[in-house]
Amino acid sequence: METYESLLAAVTAADGGRPVSDPATGEVLGRAPERGTGDLEQAVAAARTAQPDWESLGHEERSRLLNTAADAVDRSAEALAHLISREQGKPLNGPGSRFEAGGVSAWLRATAATPLEPERVLDDESGQATLGYRAAGLVGAIGPWNWPALIATWQFAPALRMGNTVVMKPSEHTPLSVLALAAIVNRVLPEGVLTVLPGGGDLGAAMVAHPAFDKLMFTGSTRTGRAITAASAANLPRLTLELGGNDPGIVLPDADPAAIAEDLFWGAFINTGQTCAALKRLYVHESLHDEVAEALAGVAARMPMGPGTDEASMLGPLTTAGQFRIVDDLVAQAAAAGGRLITGGGPDREAPGNFFPATLVTGPPADAPLVVEEQFGPALPIIAYSDLDEVITHANALDVGLGASVWSGDVERAKQVASRIEAGTIWINKHGTVHPMVPFGGVKGSGYGLEFGAEGLKSVAVPQVIAT
Ligand code: NAD
Repeated sequence: METYESLLAAVTAADGGRPVSDPATGEVLGRAPERGTGDLEQAVAAARTAQPDWESLGHEERSRLLNTAADAVDRSAEALAHLISREQGKPLNGPGSRFEAGGVSAWLRATAATPLEPERVLDDESGQATLGYRAAGLVGAIGPWNWPALIATWQFAPALRMGNTVVMKPSEHTPLSVLALAAIVNRVLPEGVLTVLPGGGDLGAAMVAHPAFDKLMFTGSTRTGRAITAASAANLPRLTLELGGNDPGIVLPDADPAAIAEDLFWGAFINTGQTCAALKRLYVHESLHDEVAEALAGVAARMPMGPGTDEASMLGPLTTAGQFRIVDDLVAQAAAAGGRLITGGGPDREAPGNFFPATLVTGPPADAPLVVEEQFGPALPIIAYSDLDEVITHANALDVGLGASVWSGDVERAKQVASRIEAGTIWINKHGTVHPMVPFGGVKGSGYGLEFGAEGLKSVAVPQVIAT
C-alpha cells in the first residue's frame, strides 16, 4: 500500500531542489525539484508530440482513463491527504485534506461523465449550423497553494477530457502535493500527456511568454492575473483567470443566528480562511448583529487548531509566514481603527508554525483594510447594517466579484437580494460550496472564464461551427 513516506520519496528531489517546509513546525519535509526554461522546452515538445494521439483516442476512451486515474487516486488517497496536510497545513479532518483528496477523484469522475454534445444553432430554410468543440491543443496551467491538488485537478481534468495535453506549474509553496498527484495519475495516462514542472514565478512567466500554449489556465492572485493577461498579449492564448475575491455575506433580519452559525463559520474559516471563495466580510442586520457575533464566537471556541496531521485539529496553520504577517497586520490595523476582537487575535509570534487563532472583529470602519482587502486567513470582520440598499452598495463597492451569500429564512426574498450582487456565484444560506456540475468563475477583478460542468469543458476547447 502507498504510504505518505513512499509517496513523498517518489517526488522529492534526489539532491538540491527547493526546500519545502511544514507550516505547523517550520521543519523541512522534502525538497522539490526546481525546473527551468530548458525543462519547459522539453515538456512542451513532449506534450505537443503526445497531443494528436491523445485527442484521437476520443471522448469515451479518455473518460475511461480519467476514471481509472480516479481509482488510482482513491487507492492512494490517505497518503496524498497526509502529504497535503504536511505541506499545505490543512487538517486531515473536517473540510480538510481527506476532503481534498476525495474531491480530486470525485472531480475526475464527474469530468469524465459530463456530456458535451454539438449544438444545432440554426436549422431553417436558410441553412443549418452546428456548434461543436475541439481540443485547443496544449494547455498551460499555473496554480496556487491553498488547495493544491484539487485546483490542479480542476485545471488538468477538463483539459485532458477535451483532448488537450497539459503542462502545469504548481505554486512554489506546495509543489510536492501536485507532483504526488501527477505521479499517481500518470500511472494511468500515456507519456507526455500531463507534465508537472515545479518552479517559481519566473517559470510561470516563462510559460506565459511561450508561444506553444493554446490556452492558459491561471488560479491565483489578481495581481499575477493582470501580469499574465498583459504578458500573454503577444501570443494570444485563450485565458481562464480564477483570481482573488473578497466575498461579502449579508444576513437579513429574518435569519436564525443559531441555525446559520456553523455554516457561516465554515463559509469563512474553511482551510483556515485560505480559500478563494470564502466569506471574507460579514454584514449583519443590526437587529441580529450581537446574536450572530456571539453564535460565531461559540462555534470558533469549539474548533481545535493544531497541526494538520493531528486527527483532532479542525483548523490548521497558515501555509506561509508571509500570509501570517498579512493577517496579523490586517487584524492589528482593524483593532487600531476601533474594531473589537470578540475572539482570537494575539497569535504567539515566537512559537513554531504559522498559527493564527480564528479571529472575529466587530465594528471595523467600512474602509478598514481588513474589510476592503483580501485577508486570505482566519480573521472575519463583522459589520452591522440597517439599510438593505446601503449594504448592497457596500457589497458591490470592491473591484472583485467571486462569490457572495445571502442568509435568510425566506429563500425567495434572499434570491431577490442575490440578483443585485455583482459576483459570479451567490449562495443562499451557505457559502463557498462548489460542485463539479455547477459552473464557477468570477467577475470584475476576480477574473473571467468558467470552470466545471459543460461550460468548464468548453473553456478548455475551441468552438467550431459547421455550416451548410
Ligand atoms: P499568486 O498569484 O502569488 O501565485 C499563483 C501562481 O502564479 C504561483 O504558481 C506563482 O508561482 C505563479 N506566478 C507568480 N508570478 C507569476 C508571473 N509573473 N507569471 C506567471 N505565473 C506567476 O497567488 P497565490 O498567493 O499562490 O494564491 C492566493 C491567491 O489566489 C488569492 O488571491 C486567492 O483568492 C486566489 N485564488 C483564487 C481561486 C479561484 O478559483 N478564483 C482559487 C484559489 C486561490
